[in-house]
Amino acid sequence: MHTVTLIPGDGIGPEISEATKRVIEATGVAIKWDIQEAGIDVFEKEGTPLPQRVIDSIKKNKVALKGPITTPVGTGFRSVNVRLRQVLDLYCCLRPCKTFKGTRTRYEDIDLVIIRENTEDLYAGIEFKKGSADAKKIIDLINELTGKIIRPDSGISIKPISVYATERIVRFAFEYSRKNKRKKVTAVHKANIMKYSDGLFLETARNVAKTYPDIEFEDRIVDNMCMQLVQKPELYDVIVLPNLYGDIVSDLAAGIIGGLGLAPGANLGEEYAVFEPVHGSAPKYKGLNKVNPLAMILSGVLMLKYLGEFKAAERLETVVASLIAEGKHVTYDMKPTPDDPTAATTSIVADAIIEKLR
Ligand code: NAD
Repeated sequence: MHTVTLIPGDGIGPEISEATKRVIEATGVAIKWDIQEAGIDVFEKEGTPLPQRVIDSIKKNKVALKGPITTPVGTGFRSVNVRLRQVLDLYCCLRPCKTFKGTRTRYEDIDLVIIRENTEDLYAGIEFKKGSADAKKIIDLINELTGKIIRPDSGISIKPISVYATERIVRFAFEYSRKNKRKKVTAVHKANIMKYSDGLFLETARNVAKTYPDIEFEDRIVDNMCMQLVQKPELYDVIVLPNLYGDIVSDLAAGIIGGLGLAPGANLGEEYAVFEPVHGSAPKYKGLNKVNPLAMILSGVLMLKYLGEFKAAERLETVVASLIAEGKHVTYDMKPTPDDPTAATTSIVADAIIEKLR
C-alpha cells in the first residue's frame, strides 16, 4: 500500500483530480490518499494558499499528486507551485512530450523530454517593488557599480544561476538519458546576452557533458530553439533548460504534441516528488466538467512508475493511447472543433478509461 498526498488544487483542479484518482484506483494499485486542500479557496479560509499541513503531508508521504493552483497575476500571493518546488527542493521539472496516434496535431512521432531547473533563475522570487525603499537601494547600488542607469521608476527581478543548481539539473538530464536509452541532450540558454548567468549555465553544462561521453551533447540559444522546435522537433531528444525558458518551452512542446490537455509533469528532488500536469487551473472552465483530464492522468502514469508500479503504469498508458486513437471518448480540445457536440466530459473520459482497464 502506498500513501500519496493528493492536492486537488483549484479552478479545474478538483475535477481532473477526481478523474485521475478514480482511474489510478482502477489500475488495482493500492493507494491511500491523504487529501490536502490548497489554493485560492484555502487562502480565503485559512489566510494562506499553502498551509503548513500540506507541506508536512508531502514530507511524510514523500510523494504527491497535484492539481493546478491559480496564481494571481501581478498582485496577491506568490505562486504556490513555485513555493512548493522551493520548499521541498524539487529541483527538477520533468516533462515528457510525446505524440499519441490520433491526436490532432501537425506533427507525428514526437518524443521529447523537457528537463527544467526548478529552484532558481527569475523564479527565485527575489523582487523589488517599483518605488520601494529597497528598490531605490538596489538601483542606486547598481548605478554606482555598473555606471549604467536604471530608471528610478523600475521594478527589479533578480536572476540567479548557480554552478551547483546547473550541475545538478544537467547531471539529471544525462542520468535520465542513460537510464532511458536517450541519445542526445541539448542545453538551452541565452549566453550571448546574459554572459554571467546563462553563460555560467552553458559553461557548467559543457563541463558536465564531458563526463558523459556516451551521450551526444549540443546547445542552442533559446530563441533559435523555439524556432527549431516548431520547424523540426524530430531533431531533438532531451532538452535541459534554466527555469524560465523551461517553463516557456514546455508549453511550446505541449502545443507540438496536441495541446496542454496532454502534457504531464513531475517535480523531482532527492527526497520528494510532486506530479502535476503542465497546464494551469484554467479558471474559466471551472466546474463545467469539460476539460481534458489526460495530462493529469498521464502525470499519474509518471507517478506510478516512480512508485515502482511499472506494470500498472504501462497498462494505463496503453489504455490512454487506445482511447486517443479511437477518438470517441475525448474532450473538446481533442475534437476537430472545440464546439463538437460529440465531445466527452471530464468524467466520461475517466469512465471510458476505467471500463478499458477492467
Ligand atoms: P492554463 O494552462 O490554466 O490555461 C490556458 C488555456 O489552456 C485554457 O484556457 C484552456 O483553453 C487550455 N487548457 C488548459 N488546461 C486544459 C485542459 N486540461 N483541457 C483542455 N484545455 C486546457 O493557463 P493560464 O490561463 O495562463 O493560467 C491559469 C492559472 O493557472 C494562472 O493563475 C496560473 O498562474 C496558473 N498555473 C498554475 C500551474 C500549476 O498549478 N502548476 C501551471 C500553470 C499555470
